[in-house]
Amino acid sequence: MLRNGLYIISTPIGNLQDISARALEILRFAPIIACEDTRVAKKLFTLLGLPLSKKFIKYEDHSEEKQAQNLIDLINSGAAVALVSDAGSPLISDPGYKLVRKCREQNVYVTAIPGACAVITALQLSGLPTNRFMFAGFIPNKDKARADLFNELKNIDTTLIFYETAPRLLKTLEQAALVFGAREIAVARELTKMYEEVVAGDFATVTAHFAANEPRGEFVLMLAPPPSAPKFEITDVRGILQERLHQTSLKTAVKEICSQYNLSKNEVYALALELKNE
Ligand code: SAM
Repeated sequence: MLRNGLYIISTPIGNLQDISARALEILRFAPIIACEDTRVAKKLFTLLGLPLSKKFIKYEDHSEEKQAQNLIDLINSGAAVALVSDAGSPLISDPGYKLVRKCREQNVYVTAIPGACAVITALQLSGLPTNRFMFAGFIPNKDKARADLFNELKNIDTTLIFYETAPRLLKTLEQAALVFGAREIAVARELTKMYEEVVAGDFATVTAHFAANEPRGEFVLMLAPPPSAPKFEITDVRGILQERLHQTSLKTAVKEICSQYNLSKNEVYALALELKNE
């Protein structure tokens, strides 16, 4: 018997076997399934051999506020509600966060059953740094909005991850190359499915691949962090600091060297004093 509450259930992003045992159990016993599209959810239930004898309730972004309260009322009347999206992890570029927020505000029990998520699967396969990454959702369709987003993100020192659709991939690669320039990138396609593919390299290589092989299916685009600025040691600037101390004040020379070589003020100042006293 499931306790009443909201169960956020991840479903497969391609390979049906990626459903977890816990997800199967909750989907089997929850009397109410909140889903993006009832037909897609029912199809998934059929494929997974789950009973269809339950209430499927459509839950969309634009009606989220009203629908959220309806679902919470059902939970408060004793129901377990399972939230699924068409594929993958609910709330990740899919509806649900307002529902969770409302549950929290109203002290309604919420739990998540983790599972497939295209962002994480793509990152794992990309070969790009995973210690810090930023998922930026879908790339906007309009040229200006897309360019604005890229410019906003171009100096962020993490791997960047986007969702993209097949018809827009080449255009996006072309525009991204103008803003991000010489970066390593990776495009993951059809993850966990028969034609799963990850193409990595510079913009020219990856673009050439998809120009020759028409993009088909579902895509995740990833960009490596910006190349880090060359790192300087205090010993590297001894000569130039000495020269500048002959030409300008100690304060100005220290300021210039700090900003030019990205060194700490304390260590440059100490070196400047040492050089002055020599
Ligand atoms: N909530 C889902 C998740 O957990 O990944 C994402 C839903 S979002 C509406 C759909 C987008 O996710 C697709 O357009 C694509 O960019 C990406 N995606 C989903 N499944 C994928 C797959 N099997 N391979 C590559 N990308 C996928």
